[in-house]
Amino acid sequence: MSQFWSPAVRELTPYVPGEQPREKLIKLNTNENPYPPAPGVEAVLREYPVDHLRLYPDPQSLALRQALAREYGVEAEQVFVGNGSDEVLALAFQAFFCHDRPLEMPEITYSFYPVYCKLYGIERRALPLDQQWRVDLDAFTTESGGAIFANPNAPTAHGHPREAIATLLERLTDQVVLVDEAYVDFGGESAVPLIERYPNLLVTGTFSKSRSLAGLRLGYAIGSRELIEGLERVKDSFNSYPIDSLASALGIASLEDREHFDACRERVITTRERTVRRLAELGFEVLPSQANFVLARHSRHDAAQLFVGLRERGILVRHFNTDALRGFLRISIGTDDEMDSLIEVFELLCR
Ligand code: PMP
Repeated sequence: MSQFWSPAVRELTPYVPGEQPREKLIKLNTNENPYPPAPGVEAVLREYPVDHLRLYPDPQSLALRQALAREYGVEAEQVFVGNGSDEVLALAFQAFFCHDRPLEMPEITYSFYPVYCKLYGIERRALPLDQQWRVDLDAFTTESGGAIFANPNAPTAHGHPREAIATLLERLTDQVVLVDEAYVDFGGESAVPLIERYPNLLVTGTFSKSRSLAGLRLGYAIGSRELIEGLERVKDSFNSYPIDSLASALGIASLEDREHFDACRERVITTRERTVRRLAELGFEVLPSQANFVLARHSRHDAAQLFVGLRERGILVRHFNTDALRGFLRISIGTDDEMDSLIEVFELLCR
């Protein structure tokens, strides 16, 4: 606490990201991709003319938006890009959710959403998940100032099909519905094809997970032209150049390699299914996952103790110390070898 902080800063509760350890650990705690980015990314990085860095980047990031538009079959005017999807989300909260009416979100979802609510002074209404730990789409009301959820949800990993989102959008017409698709490429169904029908739908995505580029910080949003223009108004009142020219070039190279993208996500999915089976054999309850992580709990072993036991043996997973999630571990899907090591340690700890 400092006398120099504004009153609002004193009240903040910042998001705490998963640890980035300095020592060599098997890192299964922040849902990164265990495989390298597309080879074309490395080629662009090697050949990038350093003199380009002398100039400011394109404030519109048009080339990257066009590449994303091609990927999703939309127009560049329906695409917004930002410095990681966290930044895109922050701008979207300011652009669409600063209302008198509360923003509705699942009680258990990406823990950055409540942080943005606090930052912008947005009232939040938390909706319980259903009995199967799924986002309850029927719980969203027409009275809200907006709706947001991750699909697949984090850290519960369940994803709703596109038709279920369409049903929600038939009901919610007066507020923005933001669907965060950070994990959709690992078996979920994207809501992007619905943007033509629903001008209040905003879908966010990221290069951090399925494109193995978490360090590059590239995220995006896809929606109607009016929503994208709203985001641009906030962006251009905050930072005109969130995407540097190198990141733009590397992002485009990643989008150009569909084969690598498909191969990596399929490997992650195959390893996930194998891991789920082995965790179940060890007595874990594993929530069904369409993401690159699983949420699991053991009937006889305390999650906090398992977390410590894994860490002592060089494996880092995520444990959330909240009432609802204290019993669970969230485990990112690594390579087969990494998951074999995890299972070996669990065999020791869960005897
Ligand atoms: N949404 C969800 C649901 C996430 O889990 C994350 C990663 N922590 C993000 C968005 C943000 O990802 P990034 O800023 O790396 O694009």
